[in-house]
Amino acid sequence: MRDLVLFILISVSVASCQKNVVTGRSQLLLVDEVELQKLSLQQYHDFLSKNKIVGPGFSTDQARVERVGKRLAHAIGVYYTNQGKPEVVKDFHWEFNLVENKEANAWCMPGGKVVVYTGLLPIASNDDALAVVMGHEIAHALADHGNERMSQAMLQQLGGEALSVALINKPGLTRDLFLQAYGVGSTLGGTLPFSRKQELEADRYGLIMAALAGYDPSEAVVFWQAMAKHAEGRSSPEWLSTHPSDEKRIEQVRIYVVEAKKYYNPKNQ
Ligand SMILES: [Zn+2]
Repeated sequence: MRDLVLFILISVSVASCQKNVVTGRSQLLLVDEVELQKLSLQQYHDFLSKNKIVGPGFSTDQARVERVGKRLAHAIGVYYTNQGKPEVVKDFHWEFNLVENKEANAWCMPGGKVVVYTGLLPIASNDDALAVVMGHEIAHALADHGNERMSQAMLQQLGGEALSVALINKPGLTRDLFLQAYGVGSTLGGTLPFSRKQELEADRYGLIMAALAGYDPSEAVVFWQAMAKHAEGRSSPEWLSTHPSDEKRIEQVRIYVVEAKKYYNPKNQ
């Protein structure tokens, strides 16, 4: 079985290695983007139908999530268009939701469907902190980390089957893999951890995106320290689940803050 997986890996890697426009890193992406978008939309609507959404107009928290999300989306669109890379956000039709859930979690599915859980807001208590964490989740999506994780999981568990075929043969498992790959699975009993490399990329580019939108990236250090404290003794959300040392990560975040400050213009807010 391992030989077979290795063979498939080598065969597909020739055809499916792509350089991500945001990070410049080559990735093995086996899952067809159109199929992934389709599954993503289904799972997104399914999630919203099963969870309590905080509706617009009734909550200052919901207004905060929408305000910060829209500013991030606008700044990202302007930046990559000016860079001559409009394809980065071509398939993104942004939506920002707040759902009632005690867990300190958030995620962004392909196509820019963002969900923040109410349990995150006491930790991300100001807009700069909220922009740091939403920027982090959006960066995971723009860097195609979900597809990368989904590809690895499908290769290991389904022998590299196409997504459309896997959905017919093993629909439940395939949907679970998707939810886990996008960090939605933490409420369903486990996530596939993002790799350390993916987390650092999300930290780095998420901070640049927050800064572009006029949010102070310096807030990241305070925010991640608060998250680390919050996560002690709890089952961790995706962004803390893979880190051997929170302190090491925060040291790295300090370096990224210096870089992100070059993009920071408070007037953009
Ligand atoms: Zn993360």
